[in-house]
Amino acid sequence: MKLLIIEDEVKVNSFLKQGFEEELFTVDQAFDGEQGLFLALTETYDAIILDLMLPRRSGLEVLKEIRREKDTPILILTAKGDTDDKVKGLNEGADDYLTKPFALAECIARIRSLVRRSQTDKSVALLKAGDLEMDTLQHSVRRGNRAIDLTAKEFKLVEYLLRNKNNVLTRSSIIEHIWEVTFDSETNVLDVYMTRIRKKIDEGEDIKLIHTVRGVGYSIKEPEQ
Ligand code: CA
Repeated sequence: MKLLIIEDEVKVNSFLKQGFEEELFTVDQAFDGEQGLFLALTETYDAIILDLMLPRRSGLEVLKEIRREKDTPILILTAKGDTDDKVKGLNEGADDYLTKPFALAECIARIRSLVRRSQTDKSVALLKAGDLEMDTLQHSVRRGNRAIDLTAKEFKLVEYLLRNKNNVLTRSSIIEHIWEVTFDSETNVLDVYMTRIRKKIDEGEDIKLIHTVRGVGYSIKEPEQ
């Protein structure tokens, strides 16, 4: 699980980072709105903690910008008694809020619940790219009329690629999402998996759906008409 913390108070940010790392989250930190927005848009996170009072870009601006492109679960941190900000935040697409000061345990519980909810929401989706179809409820994959048998990890990997269809996912982002650990980027585990998936999905097909971006990562793309 990968979390982004956007909070300019170094103490609070570090305290949260440490707390979530103890819960085995991978944590990125940003200390102003600009940096936070950049990370939120360029990386893929399971959840984001966003303070509203930030230098360079306000939390609300950051929230709006993220929501234009992504539905990553966002928990906002608001100042005590500032109902106005809280409401604005929720209207702009925040998923939950916490009022400062808050207890770490509460923050962790809220984030876990947001991530769980977003995963459940997502589980109803039928994912497609070209004639490749994944039913995440039935746990089945087809390409045209051909049923494709994937192992649990392969399934998770294809699902992650399909949910981010047409976007290139970096090697490190794929590894962190699928294995929830950071392995050495030199390891070839991911390549081995990609080779197997490619064989199952693209071998013998005229149109290839899985693409390698050398030195960067992988994507599943909707074929051009
Ligand atoms: Ca602040």
